[in-house]
Amino acid sequence: MLFQSLNIIEPILQALAEEGYTTPTPIQSQAIPIVLQGTDLLACAQTGTGKTAAFAVPVLQLLSKDKTNNQKRKIRSLIVTPTRELAIQIEESFKAYGRYTGLTTAVIFGGVNQNSQTQALRNGVDILVATPGRLLDLLNQGYITLRDVAYFILDEADRMLDMGFIHDIKKLLAVLPHKRQSLFFSATMPPEIIKLAGNILHNPAKVAVTPVSSTVDIIKQHIYFVDSENKNALLLEILKDKKVKTALVFTRTKHGADKVVKILLRHQITAEAIHGNKAQNARQRALSNFKTQTTRVLVATDIAARGIDVDELEYVVNFDMPNVAETYVHRIGRTGRAGAKGTAISFCNAEEKAYLREIEKLIAQKIPIVANHLFPLKNHEPAKDTNQEQKRGNQGHSRPRVSVRKH
Ligand code: AMP
Repeated sequence: MLFQSLNIIEPILQALAEEGYTTPTPIQSQAIPIVLQGTDLLACAQTGTGKTAAFAVPVLQLLSKDKTNNQKRKIRSLIVTPTRELAIQIEESFKAYGRYTGLTTAVIFGGVNQNSQTQALRNGVDILVATPGRLLDLLNQGYITLRDVAYFILDEADRMLDMGFIHDIKKLLAVLPHKRQSLFFSATMPPEIIKLAGNILHNPAKVAVTPVSSTVDIIKQHIYFVDSENKNALLLEILKDKKVKTALVFTRTKHGADKVVKILLRHQITAEAIHGNKAQNARQRALSNFKTQTTRVLVATDIAARGIDVDELEYVVNFDMPNVAETYVHRIGRTGRAGAKGTAISFCNAEEKAYLREIEKLIAQKIPIVANHLFPLKNHEPAKDTNQEQKRGNQGHSRPRVSVRKH
């Protein structure tokens, strides 16, 4: 099935094509028609299934059909999500898929000064992505009104409850218009979630996608603690090993990806970057060169790597640690597919240790540390952490079990 067959309007189809999406994921092919016909939705889907586009695409389409020209824009769609990282990602997705619709977006979350956020809201936006606490704050201060919200999306509802946001959500429901379409996403559906959904949704259609969740214990994972300035040298060192026939290297930024490619090329290692600044055909060419092993190293940002599926990919290198824990699982899940061998190597500098902790919490295991390498961290963290690392380092090279979602 192609996106074309879901009756999606041309401006959105074009944006999706530019993102490299051709085929809808199961949650998308199920949810998009339901949302487009105006029905409430109860969706059981985890991060990694393509759930963001499953709500963003139809909501953008509904909003763009109903444009309010020449008026100050009003918040017509509200997306509430538990964490700042998710909020940022969701807004980025709306911007990407909606880039030809003329709709505007804003994102608000706590922990930072509110001024730039209130400034962004001043001229009015069509779509607001928010975490609950800051949303209520700005509502109470009168910066936001929700009386025009026609599409309300509650994302990661189970996590929201785990994080203690239930009262905030109830307060929010009290000020949302009754006449609205609501979409409710949760990775799990325990009774309290079903109850909450019952308070929010009206005659919902239900969809569920079970992630192909397999316990992959064939992925070997390693952490190298290394200062940023030594990451290039460490990568070159690792690539000296001829066993590493190909490697998919992840960087956080496009600029970072280009820099890594330059260094590798300078050392006669064939490498190409794949990121959002490259034209679609350049990306496709890079990918097919990598698949045929004409290029040994493909350097990618997360956005560009979406949808990359390379059989027999053995090495994934996290040149930068992902700042969203789920992304780690997503990245390393590209190796060790279909029973193939897989190794995931992560470079972690002092600042990135906080991300590592989040990742280890998510996967519920400690990732073995490569203690003796050429470029150890110069600035050690406080003693507490060092002890912990040593303890963890002593765990040896047992193969950790990771639950990796594939889609
Ligand atoms: P999500 O579950 O929304 O976090 O999405 C998981 C990943 O899948 C993200 O990296 C998306 O960009 C990517 N993605 C979503 N839909 C598609 C699609 N139809 N084709 C390829 N990649 C997709």
